[in-house]
Amino acid sequence: MNGYFNHQQDRLHAENVALEEIAQRFGTPCYVYSRAALTDGYRQFAEAFKSREHLICYAVKANSNLAILNLFARMGAGFDIVSGGELQRVLAAGGAAGKVVFSGVGKSESEMRQALEAEILCFNVESPSELDRLNEVAGSMGKVAPISLRVNPDVDARTHPYISTGLKQNKFGVAYTEAFELYRRAAAMPHLRITGMDCHIGSQLTETSPFIAAAEKVLALVDRLAAAGIVLEHLDLGGGLGIRYDDEMPPSIAEYAQALLGALKGRSEKIIVEPGRVLVGNAGILLTRIEYLKHGEEKNFAIVDAAMNDLMRPALYDAFHAIQPVRKSAAASQLYEVVGPICETGDFLGHARQLGVSAGDVLAVMSAGAYGMSMSSNYNTRPRAAEVMVDGAVTHLVRERETVRQLYASEKIVT
Ligand SMILES: *Cc1c(COP(=O)(O)O)cnc(C)c1O
Repeated sequence: MNGYFNHQQDRLHAENVALEEIAQRFGTPCYVYSRAALTDGYRQFAEAFKSREHLICYAVKANSNLAILNLFARMGAGFDIVSGGELQRVLAAGGAAGKVVFSGVGKSESEMRQALEAEILCFNVESPSELDRLNEVAGSMGKVAPISLRVNPDVDARTHPYISTGLKQNKFGVAYTEAFELYRRAAAMPHLRITGMDCHIGSQLTETSPFIAAAEKVLALVDRLAAAGIVLEHLDLGGGLGIRYDDEMPPSIAEYAQALLGALKGRSEKIIVEPGRVLVGNAGILLTRIEYLKHGEEKNFAIVDAAMNDLMRPALYDAFHAIQPVRKSAAASQLYEVVGPICETGDFLGHARQLGVSAGDVLAVMSAGAYGMSMSSNYNTRPRAAEVMVDGAVTHLVRERETVRQLYASEKIVT
């Protein structure tokens, strides 16, 4: 928990609004974001990097709600996108195309066209074939594509294997040993302009050493390129800074920035960073109501109205999210499996949680602002949750709850 989600008397609040009231007014499941948490996080980043030219490109996939993108855009953020859809969202939210970097291993031709048309800042290219395709597409449009190569520094981020991206065996980026030659090839392509180098080694990193190890490898390569006449304007060091879900002790934003700036001392390149989780993760929670308490032979279950389709991280990574009632209750405290209504054993939000609750109570699933709503699905024909942003004592609905009719509106019956 943090100051943005806090207890006032017996009730948990988002800023100055009781979460129980939000559940009452907007229904459950419902994502709740603290505007102050979002803006404070961004401000910390801007402050930490202000001593040199930088661009903070928020990783849209962590949470792509337009209200959040708009908030960051107004504070000067750029964006790290991984699809044409995300580019469209950024533009719809008032983001500047000129501050967008485009990552991802599978950029389609039409996504390339869309990004060239919008004139984004840089394509983070992840393979030799992508380089060829981009050169061709840009040429056919009479344009020159600004590029970085995403270099895979083969550094162990020491995080969950599903969110580690900087090892040799991962699908991301170009091999460190092949990057030099590939830059030389790119330099000879008429419709590409080399502007930078990029790396992103994984997510939910809880120490600074892998970031530094990656930066050092990147810098050695930048120097070799400079000696060969290929001079880069920017260094994109990716995202990946972790947050506290349980008892992790990740470095603060300031400590992380300090470590990176130390590694980059004496260099003149502009710095780009691509934070996602750390900007939104602890700025959001998921509200869910207990439908039933079920006392099995071996375990007690709290069956709630949110499920793996709303918050996939526990099912996908066995991730931990703290869970707490939004109001202190006199009910006897017991160990519960907190589970959703979906027909999958993997459909749980928390194992063995000590809770004093009754049916009908509302629970807050904490640290759910990142990779929550953006990973949600409609499995079991469950409309996706509403999203609300709290600003002091004011509550804004920033996404209406989906309706079932919307889910099948584009389907056709064959006669
Ligand atoms: C997902 C991703 C990020 C953001 O990662 P976080 O761990 O959320 O900070 C940044 N850059 C790239 C290329 C990504 O794929």
